[in-house]
Amino acid sequence: EGTIRFDDVKFHYDVARPILKGISFEVPAGKTVAIVGPSGAGKSTISRLLFRFYDVTGGAVSIDGQDVRSVTQESVRGAIGMVPQDTVLFNDTIAYNIRYGRPEASEAEVKDAARMAQIHDFIERLPEGYSAEVGERGLKLSGGEKQRVAIARTILKAPPILILDEATSALDTHTEREIQTALDQVSRNRTTLVIAHRLSTVVNADQIIVLQAGEIAERGTHTELLAKK
Ligand code: ADP
Ligand code: ADP
Repeated sequence: EGTIRFDDVKFHYDVARPILKGISFEVPAGKTVAIVGPSGAGKSTISRLLFRFYDVTGGAVSIDGQDVRSVTQESVRGAIGMVPQDTVLFNDTIAYNIRYGRPEASEAEVKDAARMAQIHDFIERLPEGYSAEVGERGLKLSGGEKQRVAIARTILKAPPILILDEATSALDTHTEREIQTALDQVSRNRTTLVIAHRLSTVVNADQIIVLQAGEIAERGTHTELLAKK
């Protein structure tokens, strides 16, 4: 469960300007694909088509052999955990934010997910910073920490597919490594991972797709791509 296929996918926001010019790839269930390339290449657009935020203008996107246009948006989104680059959290505890999406989860399950995402030290605190009202419970989370809350949420929900969109976010090396550790846990859960990224957390991906101006310029494993240079 969780096989993704793009068949000659074309897309434009504006007819005069094609964004994706016939993209084909397949990600077998449980595998990881990293989509890399310069800003504006179309990485986020691929995530949005998969999530059915937009529909393709040519070709087809399918999940487990089913065209995403033939099922409801809700069921497509139910199968996908989305970790956007700017994760917005509810002004409630981190634990609440992790549990959102699977409210019936036990406390132990929430703690396990938090541990995998390496945010277990502060799950009873509030994400938006110190204020007179919340006092010491307020914790100012960085962008990378917020992403890890969203990753913990998807670990708990365990959808067959996880999309991580980091197309333009500038993470420091330490944060990147922590997110990588969290993702390693996710992929161990047999989740299909799609990572739209600029750079280095992609080394472990089963497949790397280099996107340039809406076309696949190169693809292969990290080792294969290095050998071509
Ligand atoms: P990447 O994620 O690789 O940086 P995007 O998929 O975000 O690229 O964007 C690809 C191209 O589509 C860019 O040229 C961008 O300006 C354009 N674009 C993105 N979103 C929209 C939108 N909602 N409307 C019009 N153009 C858009
Ligand atoms: P990201 O690449 O970080 O996912 P966006 O997709 O929001 O960010 O934006 C990518 C580029 O597309 C940016 O240059 C942005 O200005 C442009 N863009 C986003 N939305 C629109 C839009 N509705 N119309 C035109 N350009 C857009």
